[in-house]
Amino acid sequence: MNYPRRKDEVLERYSRVFPRSSRVTYAPIVGVKAQNARVWDIEGREYIDFLSDAAVQNVGHNNPRVVQAIKDQAERLIHFTFIYGFPVEPLLLAEKLAEIAPIESPKVSFGMSGSDANDGAIKLARAYTGRRTILSYLRSYYGATYGAMSITGLDFEVRSKVGELSGIHYIPYPNCYRCPFGKEPKTCKMECVSYLKEKFEGEVYAEGTAALFAEPIQGDAGMVVPPEDYFREVKKILDEHGILLIVDEVQSGMGRTGKWFAIEHFGVKPDVITLAKPLGGGLPISAIIGRSDVMDSLPSLGHTFTLSGNPVTSRAALAVIEEIEEKDLLRRAKKLGKYTKKRLEKMKKEHELIGDVRGLGLMLGVDLVKDRETKERAYEEARKVVWRAYELGLVLAFLQGNVLRIQPPLTIEEELLEEGLNRLEQAIADVEEGRVPDDVLTKVQGW
Ligand code: PMP
Repeated sequence: MNYPRRKDEVLERYSRVFPRSSRVTYAPIVGVKAQNARVWDIEGREYIDFLSDAAVQNVGHNNPRVVQAIKDQAERLIHFTFIYGFPVEPLLLAEKLAEIAPIESPKVSFGMSGSDANDGAIKLARAYTGRRTILSYLRSYYGATYGAMSITGLDFEVRSKVGELSGIHYIPYPNCYRCPFGKEPKTCKMECVSYLKEKFEGEVYAEGTAALFAEPIQGDAGMVVPPEDYFREVKKILDEHGILLIVDEVQSGMGRTGKWFAIEHFGVKPDVITLAKPLGGGLPISAIIGRSDVMDSLPSLGHTFTLSGNPVTSRAALAVIEEIEEKDLLRRAKKLGKYTKKRLEKMKKEHELIGDVRGLGLMLGVDLVKDRETKERAYEEARKVVWRAYELGLVLAFLQGNVLRIQPPLTIEEELLEEGLNRLEQAIADVEEGRVPDDVLTKVQGW
Protein backbone atom coordinates (compact mmCIF):
# COMPACT_ATOMS: atom_id res chain seq x y z
CA MET A 1 0.00 0.00 0.00
CA ASN A 2 1.45 3.32 -1.07
CA TYR A 3 0.29 5.37 1.94
CA PRO A 4 0.85 9.09 1.33
CA ARG A 5 2.83 11.29 3.72
CA ARG A 6 2.03 14.86 2.73
CA LYS A 7 -1.13 16.82 2.04
CA ASP A 8 0.01 17.95 -1.42
CA GLU A 9 0.64 14.39 -2.46
CA VAL A 10 -2.88 13.36 -1.40
CA LEU A 11 -4.46 16.24 -3.31
CA GLU A 12 -2.50 15.41 -6.42
CA ARG A 13 -3.39 11.73 -6.26
CA TYR A 14 -7.05 12.60 -5.62
CA SER A 15 -7.28 14.65 -8.79
CA ARG A 16 -5.96 11.71 -10.78
CA VAL A 17 -8.29 9.04 -9.51
CA PHE A 18 -11.60 10.67 -8.50
CA PRO A 19 -14.09 12.16 -10.98
CA ARG A 20 -15.59 15.58 -10.53
CA SER A 21 -19.02 14.05 -9.88
CA SER A 22 -18.04 12.63 -6.49
CA ARG A 23 -16.60 15.76 -4.91
CA VAL A 24 -16.90 19.45 -4.10
CA THR A 25 -13.98 21.39 -2.62
CA TYR A 26 -14.15 23.78 0.30
CA ALA A 27 -10.79 23.58 2.08
CA PRO A 28 -8.07 20.98 1.53
CA ILE A 29 -8.16 19.18 4.88
CA VAL A 30 -6.71 15.68 4.70
CA GLY A 31 -8.29 14.30 7.87
CA VAL A 32 -6.60 11.18 9.22
CA LYS A 33 -7.79 11.11 12.82
CA ALA A 34 -10.71 12.61 14.74
CA GLN A 35 -12.15 12.66 18.24
CA ASN A 36 -15.43 14.32 19.15
CA ALA A 37 -15.21 17.80 17.56
CA ARG A 38 -11.47 17.69 16.77
CA VAL A 39 -9.94 16.54 13.51
CA TRP A 40 -6.21 16.09 12.77
CA ASP A 41 -4.79 16.26 9.29
CA ILE A 42 -2.03 14.17 7.75
CA GLU A 43 0.60 16.70 8.81
CA GLY A 44 -0.59 16.72 12.43
CA ARG A 45 -2.52 20.00 12.31
CA GLU A 46 -5.59 20.18 14.55
CA TYR A 47 -8.98 21.58 13.51
CA ILE A 48 -12.30 22.19 15.23
CA ASP A 49 -15.08 20.61 13.20
CA PHE A 50 -18.04 22.99 13.02
CA LEU A 51 -19.76 20.82 10.41
CA SER A 52 -19.93 17.53 12.32
CA ASP A 53 -18.56 16.10 9.10
CA ALA A 54 -21.64 17.27 7.10
CA ALA A 55 -24.10 16.69 9.99
CA VAL A 56 -22.98 13.09 10.40
CA GLN A 57 -21.22 13.14 13.76
CA ASN A 58 -24.06 14.21 16.05
CA VAL A 59 -22.49 12.20 18.89
CA GLY A 60 -18.97 13.26 17.93
CA HIS A 61 -16.29 11.70 15.76
CA ASN A 62 -15.22 8.24 16.93
CA ASN A 63 -17.60 8.29 19.84
CA PRO A 64 -16.22 5.59 22.20
CA ARG A 65 -19.61 3.88 22.61
CA VAL A 66 -20.03 3.70 18.83
CA VAL A 67 -16.46 2.45 18.33
CA GLN A 68 -16.97 -0.28 20.93
CA ALA A 69 -20.28 -1.38 19.39
CA ILE A 70 -18.67 -1.63 15.95
CA LYS A 71 -15.72 -3.64 17.30
CA ASP A 72 -17.93 -6.04 19.26
CA GLN A 73 -20.29 -6.63 16.38
CA ALA A 74 -17.53 -6.99 13.76
CA GLU A 75 -15.96 -9.74 15.87
CA ARG A 76 -19.29 -11.56 16.20
CA LEU A 77 -21.05 -11.14 12.85
CA ILE A 78 -20.29 -8.62 10.12
CA HIS A 79 -23.06 -9.57 7.78
CA PHE A 80 -25.89 -12.05 7.44
CA THR A 81 -28.26 -10.82 4.85
CA PHE A 82 -31.42 -9.26 6.11
CA ILE A 83 -33.14 -10.04 2.81
CA TYR A 84 -33.56 -13.74 3.60
CA GLY A 85 -31.77 -14.16 6.93
CA PHE A 86 -32.94 -12.92 10.31
CA PRO A 87 -30.07 -10.94 11.91
CA VAL A 88 -31.10 -9.62 15.33
CA GLU A 89 -29.42 -6.20 15.31
CA PRO A 90 -31.56 -4.57 12.58
CA LEU A 91 -34.62 -5.85 14.45
CA LEU A 92 -33.51 -4.12 17.66
CA LEU A 93 -32.77 -0.94 15.74
CA ALA A 94 -36.10 -0.93 13.89
CA GLU A 95 -37.96 -1.40 17.19
CA LYS A 96 -36.02 1.46 18.75
CA LEU A 97 -36.65 3.77 15.79
CA ALA A 98 -40.35 2.89 15.94
CA GLU A 99 -40.33 3.91 19.61
CA ILE A 100 -38.77 7.35 19.07
CA ALA A 101 -40.43 8.35 15.80
CA PRO A 102 -43.51 10.63 15.90
CA ILE A 103 -45.61 8.11 13.93
CA GLU A 104 -47.94 5.57 15.50
CA SER A 105 -46.89 1.88 15.22
CA PRO A 106 -44.70 2.49 12.19
CA LYS A 107 -42.75 0.00 10.10
CA VAL A 108 -39.13 0.54 9.14
CA SER A 109 -37.03 -0.21 6.10
CA PHE A 110 -33.23 0.11 5.83
CA GLY A 111 -30.78 1.26 3.20
CA MET A 112 -27.35 2.86 3.00
CA SER A 113 -27.82 6.55 2.20
CA GLY A 114 -30.24 9.44 2.47
CA SER A 115 -30.63 9.28 -1.28
CA ASP A 116 -31.82 5.67 -1.34
CA ALA A 117 -34.22 6.34 1.55
CA ASN A 118 -35.80 9.15 -0.45
CA ASP A 119 -36.01 6.95 -3.54
CA GLY A 120 -37.82 4.37 -1.46
CA ALA A 121 -40.20 6.99 -0.14
CA ILE A 122 -41.08 8.08 -3.68
CA LYS A 123 -41.90 4.47 -4.57
CA LEU A 124 -43.97 4.04 -1.40
CA ALA A 125 -45.96 7.22 -2.03
CA ARG A 126 -46.74 6.22 -5.60
CA ALA A 127 -47.58 2.62 -4.70
CA TYR A 128 -49.77 3.56 -1.72
CA THR A 129 -51.80 6.26 -3.43
CA GLY A 130 -51.77 4.90 -6.98
CA ARG A 131 -50.93 8.46 -8.03
CA ARG A 132 -47.80 9.73 -9.73
CA THR A 133 -47.26 13.43 -8.96
CA ILE A 134 -44.76 14.38 -6.28
CA LEU A 135 -44.60 17.88 -4.87
CA SER A 136 -41.25 19.13 -3.73
CA TYR A 137 -39.73 22.45 -2.74
CA LEU A 138 -37.51 24.80 -4.62
CA ARG A 139 -33.95 24.76 -3.23
CA SER A 140 -34.51 21.41 -1.48
CA TYR A 141 -31.86 18.68 -1.50
CA TYR A 142 -32.79 15.00 -1.36
CA GLY A 143 -29.78 13.22 -2.81
CA ALA A 144 -28.01 11.98 -5.90
CA THR A 145 -29.74 8.73 -6.92
CA TYR A 146 -32.20 9.10 -9.81
CA GLY A 147 -35.33 9.60 -7.74
CA ALA A 148 -33.74 11.76 -5.08
CA MET A 149 -32.00 13.85 -7.73
CA SER A 150 -35.31 14.27 -9.54
CA ILE A 151 -37.18 15.67 -6.52
CA THR A 152 -34.25 17.91 -5.54
CA GLY A 153 -35.24 21.53 -6.08
CA LEU A 154 -31.77 23.01 -6.01
CA ASP A 155 -30.25 24.19 -9.22
CA PHE A 156 -28.71 20.77 -9.80
CA GLU A 157 -26.63 20.83 -12.97
CA VAL A 158 -26.60 17.06 -13.36
CA ARG A 159 -30.37 16.92 -13.96
CA SER A 160 -30.15 18.81 -17.21
CA LYS A 161 -27.52 16.37 -18.42
CA VAL A 162 -29.14 13.05 -17.54
CA GLY A 163 -32.90 13.64 -17.41
CA GLU A 164 -35.15 13.00 -14.45
CA LEU A 165 -38.32 11.29 -13.19
CA SER A 166 -41.50 12.80 -14.59
CA GLY A 167 -44.36 14.15 -12.51
CA ILE A 168 -42.33 16.31 -10.10
CA HIS A 169 -43.60 19.83 -9.25
CA TYR A 170 -41.75 22.37 -7.17
CA ILE A 171 -43.32 24.92 -4.88
CA PRO A 172 -41.71 27.79 -2.94
CA TYR A 173 -40.46 26.97 0.56
CA PRO A 174 -41.48 29.42 3.28
CA ASN A 175 -38.56 31.73 3.94
CA CYS A 176 -39.03 34.58 6.39
CA TYR A 177 -35.73 36.26 5.48
CA ARG A 178 -35.93 36.00 1.69
CA CYS A 179 -39.67 35.56 1.25
CA PRO A 180 -40.51 34.14 -2.19
CA PHE A 181 -43.75 36.15 -2.03
CA GLY A 182 -41.93 39.42 -1.36
CA LYS A 183 -43.30 39.79 2.20
CA GLU A 184 -41.69 40.83 5.46
CA PRO A 185 -42.60 39.22 8.80
CA LYS A 186 -44.72 42.33 9.54
CA THR A 187 -46.74 42.09 6.32
CA CYS A 188 -46.86 38.28 6.18
CA LYS A 189 -50.27 36.64 5.85
CA MET A 190 -48.81 33.18 5.34
CA GLU A 191 -48.91 33.56 1.56
CA CYS A 192 -46.87 30.36 1.40
CA VAL A 193 -49.92 28.48 2.73
CA SER A 194 -52.47 30.34 0.57
CA TYR A 195 -50.33 29.54 -2.46
CA LEU A 196 -50.70 25.83 -1.82
CA LYS A 197 -54.42 26.16 -1.02
CA GLU A 198 -55.06 27.96 -4.30
CA LYS A 199 -53.17 25.34 -6.26
CA PHE A 200 -55.37 22.65 -4.76
CA GLU A 201 -58.60 24.61 -5.14
CA GLY A 202 -57.75 25.09 -8.80
CA GLU A 203 -57.24 21.30 -8.87
CA VAL A 204 -53.74 21.81 -10.24
CA TYR A 205 -52.35 19.37 -7.76
CA ALA A 206 -55.30 17.69 -6.06
CA GLU A 207 -55.82 15.05 -8.70
CA GLY A 208 -52.99 12.65 -9.01
CA THR A 209 -50.69 13.93 -6.29
CA ALA A 210 -49.11 11.22 -4.18
CA ALA A 211 -46.98 13.14 -1.70
CA LEU A 212 -45.32 16.31 -0.60
CA PHE A 213 -41.64 15.91 0.27
CA ALA A 214 -40.36 18.41 2.83
CA GLU A 215 -37.26 19.04 4.87
CA PRO A 216 -38.65 20.39 8.19
CA ILE A 217 -35.74 22.82 8.08
CA GLN A 218 -34.20 23.25 4.65
CA GLY A 219 -30.55 22.33 5.17
CA ASP A 220 -28.62 22.76 1.95
CA ALA A 221 -30.90 25.68 1.07
CA GLY A 222 -29.19 27.55 3.91
CA MET A 223 -30.86 26.45 7.16
CA VAL A 224 -34.26 27.90 6.39
CA VAL A 225 -36.79 27.52 9.23
CA PRO A 226 -40.52 27.73 8.33
CA PRO A 227 -42.98 29.68 10.49
CA GLU A 228 -44.29 27.72 13.46
CA ASP A 229 -47.78 27.06 11.98
CA TYR A 230 -46.68 26.27 8.46
CA PHE A 231 -46.61 22.48 8.51
CA ARG A 232 -49.82 22.26 10.58
CA GLU A 233 -51.65 24.25 7.91
CA VAL A 234 -50.07 22.32 5.08
CA LYS A 235 -50.90 18.96 6.66
CA LYS A 236 -54.57 19.97 6.83
CA ILE A 237 -54.59 20.67 3.09
CA LEU A 238 -52.77 17.43 2.30
CA ASP A 239 -55.13 15.38 4.47
CA GLU A 240 -58.17 16.81 2.67
CA HIS A 241 -56.82 15.37 -0.55
CA GLY A 242 -55.32 12.10 0.70
CA ILE A 243 -51.76 13.25 -0.01
CA LEU A 244 -48.86 11.97 2.09
CA LEU A 245 -46.46 14.22 3.99
CA ILE A 246 -42.96 12.77 3.71
CA VAL A 247 -40.35 14.52 5.81
CA ASP A 248 -36.68 14.22 5.12
CA GLU A 249 -34.83 14.21 8.44
CA VAL A 250 -31.55 13.14 6.88
CA GLN A 251 -29.84 16.34 8.01
CA SER A 252 -32.16 17.57 10.75
CA GLY A 253 -32.84 14.30 12.57
CA MET A 254 -31.20 12.39 15.43
CA GLY A 255 -31.32 15.23 17.91
CA ARG A 256 -29.61 17.91 15.84
CA THR A 257 -32.31 20.51 16.54
CA GLY A 258 -32.97 19.56 20.17
CA LYS A 259 -35.66 17.00 19.38
CA TRP A 260 -35.22 13.56 17.87
CA PHE A 261 -36.86 14.82 14.69
CA ALA A 262 -37.13 18.45 13.60
CA ILE A 263 -40.74 18.03 12.48
CA GLU A 264 -41.64 17.66 16.17
CA HIS A 265 -41.06 21.42 16.59
CA PHE A 266 -44.04 22.00 14.31
CA GLY A 267 -46.64 19.83 16.03
CA VAL A 268 -47.31 17.61 13.04
CA LYS A 269 -47.18 13.85 12.59
CA PRO A 270 -45.81 13.00 9.16
CA ASP A 271 -46.78 9.86 7.24
CA VAL A 272 -43.20 8.91 6.39
CA ILE A 273 -39.76 9.97 7.66
CA THR A 274 -36.43 9.42 5.93
CA LEU A 275 -33.26 9.27 7.99
CA ALA A 276 -29.55 8.73 7.27
CA LYS A 277 -26.36 10.80 7.81
CA PRO A 278 -25.99 10.77 11.66
CA LEU A 279 -27.91 7.52 12.17
CA GLY A 280 -24.87 5.25 11.92
CA GLY A 281 -22.32 7.54 13.57
CA GLY A 282 -20.39 7.60 10.27
CA LEU A 283 -21.27 4.16 8.94
CA PRO A 284 -23.58 3.97 5.91
CA ILE A 285 -27.12 3.32 7.04
CA SER A 286 -30.46 4.91 6.20
CA ALA A 287 -33.99 4.26 7.32
CA ILE A 288 -37.50 4.90 6.11
CA ILE A 289 -39.94 5.01 9.01
CA GLY A 290 -43.56 5.20 7.97
CA ARG A 291 -47.18 4.41 8.70
CA SER A 292 -47.49 0.65 8.46
CA ASP A 293 -50.22 0.76 5.78
CA VAL A 294 -47.96 2.96 3.64
CA MET A 295 -44.86 0.82 4.30
CA ASP A 296 -46.78 -2.34 3.34
CA SER A 297 -47.75 -0.99 -0.06
CA LEU A 298 -44.69 -2.24 -1.95
CA PRO A 299 -44.36 -5.92 -2.94
CA SER A 300 -41.60 -8.26 -1.73
CA LEU A 301 -38.12 -6.94 -2.69
CA GLY A 302 -39.67 -3.61 -3.72
CA HIS A 303 -37.17 -1.68 -1.63
CA THR A 304 -34.24 -3.56 -0.12
CA PHE A 305 -30.53 -4.05 -0.80
CA THR A 306 -28.06 -6.87 -0.20
CA LEU A 307 -26.26 -4.88 2.47
CA SER A 308 -29.27 -3.17 4.10
CA GLY A 309 -29.99 -4.17 7.69
CA ASN A 310 -26.30 -4.84 8.19
CA PRO A 311 -25.57 -5.92 11.80
CA VAL A 312 -22.52 -3.67 12.25
CA THR A 313 -24.19 -0.50 10.98
CA SER A 314 -27.32 -1.38 12.98
CA ARG A 315 -25.25 -1.80 16.18
CA ALA A 316 -23.52 1.52 15.48
CA ALA A 317 -26.93 3.20 15.11
CA LEU A 318 -28.18 1.63 18.35
CA ALA A 319 -25.08 3.02 20.08
CA VAL A 320 -25.77 6.49 18.62
CA ILE A 321 -29.31 6.37 20.02
CA GLU A 322 -28.12 5.14 23.44
CA GLU A 323 -25.55 7.91 23.54
CA ILE A 324 -28.19 10.56 22.78
CA GLU A 325 -30.45 9.14 25.49
CA GLU A 326 -27.86 8.58 28.20
CA LYS A 327 -26.01 11.86 27.70
CA ASP A 328 -29.28 13.77 27.37
CA LEU A 329 -28.07 15.21 24.08
CA LEU A 330 -31.47 16.57 23.04
CA ARG A 331 -31.30 18.96 25.95
CA ARG A 332 -27.63 19.68 25.23
CA ALA A 333 -28.37 20.50 21.56
CA LYS A 334 -31.03 22.94 22.72
CA LYS A 335 -28.78 24.55 25.31
CA LEU A 336 -25.65 24.83 23.16
CA GLY A 337 -27.78 25.89 20.20
CA LYS A 338 -29.29 28.71 22.21
CA TYR A 339 -25.87 29.86 23.36
CA THR A 340 -24.36 29.65 19.86
CA LYS A 341 -27.25 31.54 18.29
CA LYS A 342 -26.93 34.30 20.88
CA ARG A 343 -23.23 34.59 20.20
CA LEU A 344 -23.87 34.72 16.43
CA GLU A 345 -26.55 37.39 16.95
CA LYS A 346 -23.96 39.37 18.87
CA MET A 347 -21.54 39.00 15.97
CA LYS A 348 -24.28 40.27 13.67
CA LYS A 349 -24.42 43.49 15.68
CA GLU A 350 -20.72 44.03 15.10
CA HIS A 351 -20.28 42.73 11.54
CA GLU A 352 -22.24 44.22 8.63
CA LEU A 353 -21.43 41.17 6.54
CA ILE A 354 -23.93 39.13 8.56
CA GLY A 355 -27.47 39.64 7.27
CA ASP A 356 -29.28 36.91 9.18
CA VAL A 357 -28.72 34.27 11.82
CA ARG A 358 -31.23 31.41 11.93
CA GLY A 359 -31.82 27.80 12.80
CA LEU A 360 -32.89 25.49 15.60
CA GLY A 361 -30.66 23.73 18.11
CA LEU A 362 -27.27 23.09 16.57
CA MET A 363 -28.53 23.42 13.00
CA LEU A 364 -27.64 27.04 12.35
CA GLY A 365 -26.94 29.26 9.36
CA VAL A 366 -25.26 32.65 9.04
CA ASP A 367 -26.43 34.43 5.90
CA LEU A 368 -23.68 36.69 4.56
CA VAL A 369 -24.82 39.70 2.54
CA LYS A 370 -23.19 42.54 0.64
CA ASP A 371 -25.91 44.92 1.78
CA ARG A 372 -28.45 44.43 4.56
CA GLU A 373 -31.13 46.35 2.66
CA THR A 374 -30.92 44.47 -0.64
CA LYS A 375 -29.83 41.19 1.01
CA GLU A 376 -27.57 40.56 -1.98
CA ARG A 377 -25.72 37.32 -1.28
CA ALA A 378 -22.03 37.79 -0.44
CA TYR A 379 -20.61 34.89 -2.46
CA GLU A 380 -16.97 35.90 -2.57
CA GLU A 381 -16.90 36.91 1.07
CA ALA A 382 -18.33 33.52 2.08
CA ARG A 383 -15.55 31.73 0.20
CA LYS A 384 -12.98 33.90 1.88
CA VAL A 385 -14.47 33.31 5.35
CA VAL A 386 -14.39 29.54 4.81
CA TRP A 387 -10.79 29.71 3.61
CA ARG A 388 -9.70 31.96 6.47
CA ALA A 389 -11.46 29.69 8.96
CA TYR A 390 -9.46 26.79 7.53
CA GLU A 391 -6.24 28.75 8.01
CA LEU A 392 -7.30 29.43 11.60
CA GLY A 393 -8.04 25.74 12.22
CA LEU A 394 -11.83 25.65 11.87
CA VAL A 395 -13.71 23.32 9.53
CA LEU A 396 -16.50 25.34 7.93
CA ALA A 397 -18.53 25.39 4.71
CA PHE A 398 -21.20 27.48 3.06
CA LEU A 399 -24.55 26.66 1.47
CA GLN A 400 -26.20 28.37 -1.50
CA GLY A 401 -22.86 30.11 -1.98
CA ASN A 402 -23.25 32.48 0.96
CA VAL A 403 -24.75 30.88 4.07
CA LEU A 404 -22.22 29.63 6.63
CA ARG A 405 -23.13 26.22 7.92
CA ILE A 406 -22.81 25.89 11.70
CA GLN A 407 -23.50 22.32 12.83
CA PRO A 408 -20.99 21.19 15.47
CA PRO A 409 -21.40 17.82 17.22
CA LEU A 410 -24.01 17.88 20.00
CA THR A 411 -21.22 16.60 22.24
CA ILE A 412 -18.74 19.42 21.52
CA GLU A 413 -16.96 20.60 24.66
CA GLU A 414 -18.14 24.08 25.69
CA GLU A 415 -14.60 25.53 25.61
CA LEU A 416 -14.07 24.17 22.11
CA LEU A 417 -17.37 25.62 20.93
CA GLU A 418 -16.30 28.97 22.32
CA GLU A 419 -12.90 28.72 20.66
CA GLY A 420 -14.54 27.78 17.35
CA LEU A 421 -16.85 30.79 17.58
CA ASN A 422 -13.85 33.02 18.30
CA ARG A 423 -12.10 31.68 15.20
CA LEU A 424 -15.26 32.20 13.16
CA GLU A 425 -15.52 35.80 14.30
CA GLN A 426 -11.85 36.35 13.54
CA ALA A 427 -12.34 34.95 10.02
CA ILE A 428 -15.32 37.26 9.42
CA ALA A 429 -13.38 40.28 10.70
CA ASP A 430 -10.36 39.41 8.54
CA VAL A 431 -12.56 39.27 5.45
CA GLU A 432 -14.37 42.52 6.30
CA GLU A 433 -11.10 44.29 6.88
CA GLY A 434 -9.53 43.09 3.62
CA ARG A 435 -6.96 40.78 5.14
CA VAL A 436 -7.86 37.81 2.94
CA PRO A 437 -6.48 38.05 -0.62
CA ASP A 438 -8.60 37.46 -3.74
CA ASP A 439 -6.51 34.54 -4.91
CA VAL A 440 -8.21 32.27 -2.34
CA LEU A 441 -11.37 32.55 -4.47
CA THR A 442 -9.91 30.12 -6.98
CA LYS A 443 -9.17 27.58 -4.26
CA VAL A 444 -12.66 27.23 -2.82
CA GLN A 445 -15.27 25.72 -5.08
CA GLY A 446 -18.23 25.16 -2.74
CA TRP A 447 -21.83 24.54 -3.61
N1 PMP B 1 -31.57 14.76 2.32
C1 PMP B 1 -30.98 15.80 2.92
C2 PMP B 1 -31.83 16.81 3.62
C3 PMP B 1 -29.59 15.96 2.88
O1 PMP B 1 -29.03 17.02 3.48
C4 PMP B 1 -28.82 14.99 2.20
C5 PMP B 1 -27.32 15.12 2.14
N2 PMP B 1 -26.85 16.41 2.08
C6 PMP B 1 -29.47 13.92 1.58
C7 PMP B 1 -30.85 13.82 1.68
C8 PMP B 1 -28.71 12.88 0.84
O2 PMP B 1 -28.10 12.00 1.72
P1 PMP B 1 -26.92 11.05 1.23
O3 PMP B 1 -25.79 11.93 0.82
O4 PMP B 1 -26.64 10.19 2.41
O5 PMP B 1 -27.43 10.25 0.08
